Amino acid sequence: MSDHWKVLVWMVAGVLVGLVMQWTLPAPAWAGAEFAAHPGGVQVRAVTGGGPAARAGMAVGDVYRAVALGRGGSEEEVVTFASLENAAQTPASVLERSSNGEVIWFLPALVAGESEPEGELRFKGGKALALSMNPDCARATWLAPFKFAADIFLALLKMLIVPLVLSSIVAGVAGVGTMKDLKRLGGKTFAYYLATSLLAILVGQFLVNTIRPGDGAALGLSALTEAGMGTDDSFVEVIKRAIPTNIFSALQSNGAMLSIIFFALLLGYFITQTAEPHGSRIRELFESFFEVMMKMAEGVLKLLPYGVFALLVKVTAATGFAPFKALLLYMFTVALALLIHSALTLPMLLKFVGKMHPGLWFKAMSPAIMTAFSTSSSSMTLPVTMRTVEQRGRVSNKVTSFTLPLGATINMDGTALYECIGVIFLSQYYASISEFTLTFGDQAFIVLLALLASVGAAGIPSAGLVMMLTILSALGLPIEGAALLLAVDRPLDMLRTCVNVWSDSCGAAIISRTEGETGPLEPITSG
Ligand code: ASP
Repeated sequence: MSDHWKVLVWMVAGVLVGLVMQWTLPAPAWAGAEFAAHPGGVQVRAVTGGGPAARAGMAVGDVYRAVALGRGGSEEEVVTFASLENAAQTPASVLERSSNGEVIWFLPALVAGESEPEGELRFKGGKALALSMNPDCARATWLAPFKFAADIFLALLKMLIVPLVLSSIVAGVAGVGTMKDLKRLGGKTFAYYLATSLLAILVGQFLVNTIRPGDGAALGLSALTEAGMGTDDSFVEVIKRAIPTNIFSALQSNGAMLSIIFFALLLGYFITQTAEPHGSRIRELFESFFEVMMKMAEGVLKLLPYGVFALLVKVTAATGFAPFKALLLYMFTVALALLIHSALTLPMLLKFVGKMHPGLWFKAMSPAIMTAFSTSSSSMTLPVTMRTVEQRGRVSNKVTSFTLPLGATINMDGTALYECIGVIFLSQYYASISEFTLTFGDQAFIVLLALLASVGAAGIPSAGLVMMLTILSALGLPIEGAALLLAVDRPLDMLRTCVNVWSDSCGAAIISRTEGETGPLEPITSG
């Protein structure tokens, strides 16, 4: 079985195993609530709708106090939590502390659960510092290996972000300068690629702001502790921050993504401006580095089926179907935007700019689109796309051999709109549970980043998802959120790859028409 279908099978398996866990392992009363440290104990920060915590009547703002039940003879204190009407009456200092001033309190039960202790409350100097609590006990033990696997998989993906982004941009920009045909067809082709990707993003942006799948979604992710987005600053500030004062310290942080992109763009450009042999030496170095990074990405993505499995077991077992309602709405938004772009925007371009019959062109392109659907990879589909456009579409080899390989790497309309929707979806979610608002400036910024990400994404399965991690880092949003999107990514990947390939083929047709070729199917008008 190809990796492609394997992902889907493991995805379904993950949901099933998660659901079985959810049904067979009882959830304690506090499952579905999130807590923050509070001087009087802990305070409920968020309650997932429909979970046991909500049913037990926990509400945001409630304070629960820790009361020592017994002494285990060690430094660990066994405590339970009881509802407290007035937190101020019972200062935290009544809790005993160990000699180093820090006590770890184990919580056997929060409200009325009977589970084993799981969770830590740290106090220092009489103040509650931090609380971490597993959502439940028996289930948490069972879930630990899945959580571990999911965390490892995410860490492997994160590890790739900086080297992949750096090498792909430098190699890409430096490589463009070496294309011989660039002057002839280049301008038109680039204009088409940028225009369609931008149109796709705008459709996505409009839909996600209308449907608002992220508002109040029950995703169960923690609220932002520090302001994300980092774009409270004016646009000028953002530009200023994008210039790294020290590229090596920028490379050390996933959050300095903008600076890395900025430096990579400049480096790529100046490589083309440097006298030989230096320019091409360093270009080749980056090209090879990029190839190696891509191989590494392929290797990591081989683990995708198991990563998706682990993530889905974790999500479904902990919160059941609650997050899926929002995720389904998110998937619907992406699918609808893809449909509008491919069935409305691109056909209009074909009809009015290319003067051809969109329906006929679509029919002619079906082998390429079907291959895209079943491989989730524009690059793997490229040979089929080229053959289809040349033989069934009758576009000259001159045009296909320039536009299609370029298109398969940089023209990704489907990916572009998916990036935009995914990031705004998560921002909507974070905006509804934390204190930050998504400003117009942020949105414009996301559009720009989505465009860059679609250009930078490789034509391989899940490449768009890796780029999503890049955008989230650039915006200062936690990558944790992308894990949920990752879990349901494959079906969307199949659809967006179809749109990517469809847009490439439309581009080839339109360019060929503007070059005066009469080959591509019958024109609608004779003129
Ligand atoms: N799989 C897509 C492609 O090859 C890229 C992506 O993940 O969005 O076109």
